[in-house]
Amino acid sequence: MLTNYVYKLRPSITQINKMGGWLDMLRSTYNWSLADRIAQYNQQFIQGDYCDIRTKSEACPITCFVSKNGASGEPWKDGKVDKDGKLKNPRRSAGDIQITALPELKKARPWFGEIDSTVLQQNVKRLDTAYKNFFERQVASPSGEGRGFPKFKNRGNFTSFTYQMGVKVQGSKVYLPKLGWMRFFNSRLIPDGFNLKAATIRKRQDGWYVSIRIEDKSIPDYVSKPLDEVKSVLGCDLGITKLVHLSDRYQIDNPRFATNKKVKRTLKIRQRRVSKKLKDSKNRKKAASKLGRFHKKITDKRVAYQWDVANKIVSRKVDAIALEDLNISAMLKRCKVKVDENTGRFLKNGQSRKKGLNRAISDTSWGELILKIEYLAAKQGKVVIKINPKHSSQECRNCGHIDKSNRDGEKFICTECGYHEHADIGAAKTIRDRCLEIVRRDSAKLAASQQNAQKVSSRSMSKRGEFGNLSNQDIKIAKS
Ligand SMILES: [Zn+2]
Repeated sequence: MLTNYVYKLRPSITQINKMGGWLDMLRSTYNWSLADRIAQYNQQFIQGDYCDIRTKSEACPITCFVSKNGASGEPWKDGKVDKDGKLKNPRRSAGDIQITALPELKKARPWFGEIDSTVLQQNVKRLDTAYKNFFERQVASPSGEGRGFPKFKNRGNFTSFTYQMGVKVQGSKVYLPKLGWMRFFNSRLIPDGFNLKAATIRKRQDGWYVSIRIEDKSIPDYVSKPLDEVKSVLGCDLGITKLVHLSDRYQIDNPRFATNKKVKRTLKIRQRRVSKKLKDSKNRKKAASKLGRFHKKITDKRVAYQWDVANKIVSRKVDAIALEDLNISAMLKRCKVKVDENTGRFLKNGQSRKKGLNRAISDTSWGELILKIEYLAAKQGKVVIKINPKHSSQECRNCGHIDKSNRDGEKFICTECGYHEHADIGAAKTIRDRCLEIVRRDSAKLAASQQNAQKVSSRSMSKRGEFGNLSNQDIKIAKS
């Protein structure tokens, strides 16, 4: 099992200065490596005579892969051959090439020598991960959400570096190569049997943190239940006035950590204090750090609350948890600009009205909550199933009639049959039913394939019918 433990560090002033300097240097290599890869990518479209490095034969610029994949340098691996006489991983990745160029960087700029070498390597590998995420998104959802093309980093969004080796922990002290021993707040003990794998140092508003990655191979990873063992499902409907509605009629409050009246006022004042100070002045820096610490405090409160909520949801006696499959980045999109055709003036498009809603959505941070629920559910062997929430709060649970006017605030009254219920709890129930439908279909498929293979006895077939005591009507609704 692999987990991360996070501790707050207590570095000395020298260590703080050193780590700050490292971040600046690492950021510049990161940005340089990214620029290099972009340049190399663009160069493959330049016309000219190309040849294959090994065979020296002519190659088409489209098929020649000499410069396709990153920095200049030997594009081939050390020429090791496997059993069949083929080259092992003949092509090196852009990351490999850029990592082997690191000693040259150290020669040209000797001050890079003071950074631990595994930190430098991980810094380049980080770019590999960014590219991987980008390509994965391209495959999974070409137009949808996800992480985009790797970005150039500035001081604000480049705040961490990772050690791959050499980190030691002794009591309340951690040894970081080239930085030396550093004390930390030992807020939780590393359990016995766990080995140190890596450590990430991160700068946050109120100081430096270390995230230690530990592994114990003797403890197996969590296994989640197979779908055909799922008997009961808890439906969750995420909202703003209440954070979560559960299908068992339970509601969880949304404390609005960043958008309640008091916090909004404090934020406004602190923000103004920053903007009124002279640029590049020490006082502005002080005010900015005070604002930053306030933001951190809000985040910390929200994170603590979300763990609490996730725990409440996951600890219910169910086999699976059904969540909405939300496209949050699409929900946060700005309204389309409206222009008067005659005068060319901008017309009202409702954006100022939507601004408040967007802020409220960001403040709930559903995505973070969903991640926490998934993590805790996996720990307990429960399944999390994402459900398409389309019309879940507009559909009548009695007759299946879908209409926007069915819903009036918290009330749900069907315009066709007069069925009424609490709108959000109804939505949570609809999500649960849709989930049950999916589970049924999948386990039916599974059972069918088993039947073909080994003739399942009639007893186990009747067992399969146990879950979901839904009437036919419910199934019709769930299909939607
Ligand atoms: Zn109805």
